Amino acid sequence: MPTASPARKSSASKPAAAKGGKPGKESDHPIFSELGFPVDPNNLYRQTVGSMLQAADLMDLPHHLKIILAQPKNEIMVNFPVKMDDGTYRLFKGYRVQHNNALGPFKGGLRFHHDVHLDDVKSLAFLMTMKCSLVGVPYGGGKGGIKVDPYKHSKSEMERIVRRFTTAIAHQIGPDYDIPAPDVGSNAQHMAWIADTYSFLSEVGGHQPEAVITGKPVEFGGSLGREKATGQGVVDTLVEMLPEVGVEIKSCKFSVLGFGNVGSWTGKILQDKGAKMIATMDHTGAIRNDGGIDAHQLAEHVRKTGGVAGFKGATRIDKDEFYKTKVDVFVPAALEQMIQEPEAQLLNCKVVAEGANAPTTPAGERVLEARGIEVLPAILCNSGGVTVSYFEWVQNKTCQQWELNDVDRELNKHMIAAAKRTRDARKKYKCNLRTAAYIAALERLASAYSVRGIFP
Ligand code: GLU
Repeated sequence: MPTASPARKSSASKPAAAKGGKPGKESDHPIFSELGFPVDPNNLYRQTVGSMLQAADLMDLPHHLKIILAQPKNEIMVNFPVKMDDGTYRLFKGYRVQHNNALGPFKGGLRFHHDVHLDDVKSLAFLMTMKCSLVGVPYGGGKGGIKVDPYKHSKSEMERIVRRFTTAIAHQIGPDYDIPAPDVGSNAQHMAWIADTYSFLSEVGGHQPEAVITGKPVEFGGSLGREKATGQGVVDTLVEMLPEVGVEIKSCKFSVLGFGNVGSWTGKILQDKGAKMIATMDHTGAIRNDGGIDAHQLAEHVRKTGGVAGFKGATRIDKDEFYKTKVDVFVPAALEQMIQEPEAQLLNCKVVAEGANAPTTPAGERVLEARGIEVLPAILCNSGGVTVSYFEWVQNKTCQQWELNDVDRELNKHMIAAAKRTRDARKKYKCNLRTAAYIAALERLASAYSVRGIFP
């Protein structure tokens, strides 16, 4: 299922691609020159770490923790050949970045996307460290991926690509060391192939080798509720935070950017609570219906056709109209850096609930802030996925299968606690919610470092 609308991403290898990323406070931190960061202010890694450093400055985080957290521990890149169905061979590039493991094993998804770069993976791994800390699961942060368009390969080609990638990184992952999961472009079937390949390679029958990865199919060690978990977490966060901005969930209107796993589940669960989806957009186009788009029917349409275009229950609109559609809540649930200054100027909403990782650039965020639009930051809002991944891992390790009600209830507890810690930090430091969420995450990391110390 496609998960993204057209992105205008920027990274070190694509320096001038993104608009709207004028150098701001985030781009100027002295740690960037100390660590030799890329100078491009549109670089995603510089932007993400920059936001964290603002929080670190505000709470007076010690300098040594700032430099440790500003760089990942390990950056692994692999190149591997795979036989295509027509008998030819192609070389693929894969990544695994292990950002930090002070709080527990590295944890984070695998992105299968034709445009994935090392800097993207570094940013996403960094965000996982922050997210796991904030939502209170005993993990550090990691992320990986393969530079591949999964929709352009047959099932058997994808199986060979995924199994060969697993072989290439098998010595770098493990159920107690680094536990991947799905992300954009990867799904439960891919996770099953990874778990199966790893089990063969590790030859450790009896030690739950399938706990090396989460987001597996329920038939093979997966958890009930994992597929919808990120969307469920977005909704749990909204239920918790909307009263602060005077919006009622059951009468709320929303729009969704990206109708893949996160967007569609957020849409369906919000609709089941009485909210109305007015517009959505993905890589096939944008659609609107002021009377409400049925998210369940649309998800079915996307499953069959690959995108939202052509859905009978709505009218096609253009991209600007999509952003300008008046709603209470706007949910970016596609790729990074999609809400830059121009989109932020167009948005007509009270709240942006970040279902995707890093969808708002710092420049975009300044515009939203100036316009009085509240941003629920990704490390809070989309932490439901990794939380249920943690539950899956616990179930694997203890040979249990939890009921869906238990998964949902435990997830809700984590989301409420993370929202509360974020609100408390905002009150204490008088900052926006993104900075507050980073502060709450950094507090936990700083406590762990203060008792662990730094070896030797
Ligand atoms: N890829 C998801 C995320 O960005 C889930 C990661 C996981 O479950 O480990 O949060």
